Amino acid sequence: MADTEHRPSNFIRQIIDKDLASGKHTQVHTRFPPEPNGFLHIGHAKSIVLNFGIAEDYQGSCNLRFDDTNPLKEKVDYVESIKKDVAWLGYGWEGEPRYSSNYFEQLHAYAVELIEKGLAYVDFSDKDVMREMRGTLKEPGVNSQYRDTSVEENLELFQRMTAGEFQEGECSLRAKIDMSSPFMCMRDPVIYRVRFAHHHQTGDKWCVYPMYDFTHCISDALEGITHSLCTLEFQDNRRLYDWVLDNISIDCHPQQIEFSRLNLQYAVMSKRIINTLVEEGKVTGWDDPRVPSIAGLRRRGYTPASIREFCRRIGVTKMDNQVEMSMLEACIRDDLNENAPRAMAVMEPIKLVIDNYPAAETELLDAPNHPNNPDMGSRQVTFSKELYIEREDFRESANKKFKRLVLDKEVRLRNAYVVRADRVEKDSDGNVTTVYCTYDPDTLGKDPADGRKVKGVIHWVSAETAKAAEFRVYDRLFQVPNPAAEEELFSTLNPESLILKKGYVEANLAAAEVQQAFQFERLGYYCLDQDAEKEGRLIFNQTVGLRDSWAKIEQQQAAE
Ligand code: ATP
Ligand code: MG
Repeated sequence: MADTEHRPSNFIRQIIDKDLASGKHTQVHTRFPPEPNGFLHIGHAKSIVLNFGIAEDYQGSCNLRFDDTNPLKEKVDYVESIKKDVAWLGYGWEGEPRYSSNYFEQLHAYAVELIEKGLAYVDFSDKDVMREMRGTLKEPGVNSQYRDTSVEENLELFQRMTAGEFQEGECSLRAKIDMSSPFMCMRDPVIYRVRFAHHHQTGDKWCVYPMYDFTHCISDALEGITHSLCTLEFQDNRRLYDWVLDNISIDCHPQQIEFSRLNLQYAVMSKRIINTLVEEGKVTGWDDPRVPSIAGLRRRGYTPASIREFCRRIGVTKMDNQVEMSMLEACIRDDLNENAPRAMAVMEPIKLVIDNYPAAETELLDAPNHPNNPDMGSRQVTFSKELYIEREDFRESANKKFKRLVLDKEVRLRNAYVVRADRVEKDSDGNVTTVYCTYDPDTLGKDPADGRKVKGVIHWVSAETAKAAEFRVYDRLFQVPNPAAEEELFSTLNPESLILKKGYVEANLAAAEVQQAFQFERLGYYCLDQDAEKEGRLIFNQTVGLRDSWAKIEQQQAAE
């Protein structure tokens, strides 16, 4: 990838540098291990950019591994969407995608090894009893009555578990560690359970499934992972990670390193909550442009480069925090400001009729695609007697600060002529419907010859050739900075997170492709929505405004 120039430094890279310098490792091998129980979101992007980015910068490799130990919640559709999203973000994994389920055979053998070593036992206590016997943070746990079953008997019981002789919940295999450990995860954790469930990769082969903590460390070791990067909530579990690898016959012992999760203000990140939003129809789907899923961001018009850049800017630490939405927006704005071609659209149109322009005539005017980048070329826009301009770009009277069109005053039409507003027509409610004006034919691409100054510039489209379009203007989905902390999460949804507007775009945009980005001059960045193709009309999603409106809103709120 081209953007490896700005190599970020962080505490994880410092550990890796040290490991390479000391000869502990000669090659770096990381992995990204999603559970295929939902779609990826911007939080996952942080982990993807970290893991794949390290592999890239150190000329190592990064595996994509589906952590698929819970057949009840996982689906092959999720597998496919995750592959697509990782590839879209610009990363390639080492070899074929892996699955924890690839290792079910080995995992089972390691469980048997623990039993043989007297380090695991089959427990028939029911769930509630087991929970009670685990103790609390203040109270140690109590040993199970099954803890001292003989090795032989445990081997036979585990065999019978595997053969399907016990019901779900009837028994489980537990590691024998320490019921008084200060780390709850070390109090004889369950490592295998009975589940009569069809698995998307292994079918009906298994009715016992390994638990995450047991599976993850072994999968890492089997793949020769050097640095196993995960989020902070696994900090305690590192003891279990190390315990399992220390107690089975495996040579590789990856180092688990934890970093803080990404939390984004005014958004929710958990797959579970996003799922509920979708199921309850609060958003249109996982790819709703208001959802911070990768699919939603893509549809909203975010580019892979902007998301990678965001992940770089937020950095990697062990500090929990909430990142401001404006950080994410700044990244896409910077990208599109440089790369999106300009175009003209009118979102709340009123008519502008040029009295002295011949009705039968139209002309094609040259309009640059980018103000600062001539390499992006130019396009032709139709100019005609009847145009549309924005309702809010016209006032019957206004003070000097209003640098747009005012009755009896002049303004420049972007890429075209200077016009003077002469009179208006109103509907029965007194709303202006049409503005009549005169144009100065001698002002195309130059100032008026007599030296009069015309300061304002407004955009327009030709009523003759413009195409009708729908604009979906988005605002934050939630009204509070940390919605996940709210008891009534959905009561904090922003009722105005989507506003529809109907207007016109210049005719050139009839050829726009889904996801293609534009800066609609003076309005913001927009891209063509996928619904446009389905519905055969032009529908544009607002990606982001031209300026940071959050900063202003937040200042106002702080002042109040
Ligand atoms: P969720 O809570 O959204 O379901 P998860 O952690 O259960 O997320 P996984 O599929 O298990 O989702 O995550 C795959 C990888 O992505 C893990 O290594 C996880 O730590 C990382 N990850 C998930 N969410 C975030 C986040 N918000 N910030 C950084 N990394 C994350
Ligand atoms: Mg999970």
